[in-house]
Amino acid sequence: MYVFMKEKEKLKTFIPQDEIHELLEKTKNPDPVRVKEILAKSLSKERLEPEETATLLNVEDRDLIEEMFIAARKLKETIYGNRIVLFAPLYIGNECVNDCVYCGFRTSNKKVLRKTLTEEELKEEVKALVNKGHKRLIVVYGEHSKYSPQFIAKTIDIIYNTKLGNGEIRRVNVNAAPQSVEGYKIIKSVGIGTFQIFQETYHYPTYKKLHPKGPKSNFAWRLYGLDRAMMAGIDDVGIGALFGLYDWKFEVMGLLYHTIHLEERFGVGPHTISFPRIEPAVNTPFSQKPPHPVSDFDFKRLVSIIRLSVPYTGMILTARERPDLRDEVIKLGVSQIDAGSSIGVGSYSNKDPETVKKSQFLLADRRSLDEVIRELMKSGFIPSFCTACYRAGRTGEHFMEFAIPGFVKRFCTPNAIFTLTEYLCDYATQETKEIGWKLIEKEIEKMDDGIKEAVKKGVERIKRGERDVRF
Ligand code: SAM
Ligand code: SF4
Repeated sequence: MYVFMKEKEKLKTFIPQDEIHELLEKTKNPDPVRVKEILAKSLSKERLEPEETATLLNVEDRDLIEEMFIAARKLKETIYGNRIVLFAPLYIGNECVNDCVYCGFRTSNKKVLRKTLTEEELKEEVKALVNKGHKRLIVVYGEHSKYSPQFIAKTIDIIYNTKLGNGEIRRVNVNAAPQSVEGYKIIKSVGIGTFQIFQETYHYPTYKKLHPKGPKSNFAWRLYGLDRAMMAGIDDVGIGALFGLYDWKFEVMGLLYHTIHLEERFGVGPHTISFPRIEPAVNTPFSQKPPHPVSDFDFKRLVSIIRLSVPYTGMILTARERPDLRDEVIKLGVSQIDAGSSIGVGSYSNKDPETVKKSQFLLADRRSLDEVIRELMKSGFIPSFCTACYRAGRTGEHFMEFAIPGFVKRFCTPNAIFTLTEYLCDYATQETKEIGWKLIEKEIEKMDDGIKEAVKKGVERIKRGERDVRF
């Protein structure tokens, strides 16, 4: 198997570098009839083949691009409805032995203060997050011998056991360095949600150039990192590319080939796909002027093409993006966003201005969780903190949402309403409550008679003080 192979300059993996270039070349100036055929295939909920995605990537005609946006919106609405799942990132430690040129945490960056949360500090961070209403986190670590699988497992265990009032964290996802199968098993044992690894760039020569040092310089070890997670029994894995490092069209193709590889090898594709764009990081000139910047318009294209190419996968949009753009992009296919985020180590509980020096990069969306929730509801979305599937052992919920007719109506929308009700009772401002209660009433009215009464009863139980009501 390639993972254990010594790396050669021309590495053979499931990312066929030359084939991707050839496909992108061959499908230039696509025939509009062919494009419409592909959009129809997406709308019938089929995953696209590389040649089809390459064709969509080569659409340059504005009217056809608009048709692509319309198809992506339609696909999202019909499969996933109007829920948006909310989470927050929690940085545990920023020590790192790698030297990724775009990242503020890279080992050669002497202007970043290195910090790993102590147990007490971690508990304070969790309480601060719970106190705002969060239920789902992604925990983030640099790559360092301090952050062993045992350490990661321990921090997650502390998070689950730190409760405050009615609140608690119910799902912890992880973004950390790739592990060995044994390492993943240790982390899995404390009950994690998704394990995320972003390949950053699927273009091998660019990868080699931008990751000059440390374990991350091994392209294949990282590329097969989620294979090992699945071999260890972690069912939900998240892939991603960091946009701005190389041609965005190549990266979308990379994400698709990665998806196909996981499908073929494990019978199921990734749980989520992330598509961060590079943000400016402290003392990191590369991040201020990335070599392949992606315009807002192209960003919308790539989000809609990922949605159309892999209809069954969750898509994550982060607070790296500006609020106005986030609103537009969510409609194109996004299912999860972070809100009220702070990405300095210790920055939820400690408002010290020095924390920015412990931050990885700067966020463009600095709205509070309450503000984001209010604005989502004003735009007709139901903010959700649902963790029901994962806790009921229904892993791969995005797949079920997509594959089982009526699943969203029967499970996702009611559970979104229940978790929103908890939020309104325990954490919302007056203004948010007013909008929220109206939205809940309206959403319940739209429901089929079969479940309407059960949802009404669930909401009443929560209002009377019960928590964690779910289907
Ligand atoms: N150290 C682990 C790793 O590299 O996989 C996990 C944590 S790392 C902080 C998480 C992600 O942050 C990286 O995978 C990368 O995509 C992203 N990132 C790094 N620098 C960034 C920047 N300047 N702007 C936006 N995202 C960045
Ligand atoms: Fe370290 Fe991850 Fe940043 Fe690279 S991206 S320098 S591995 S924290």
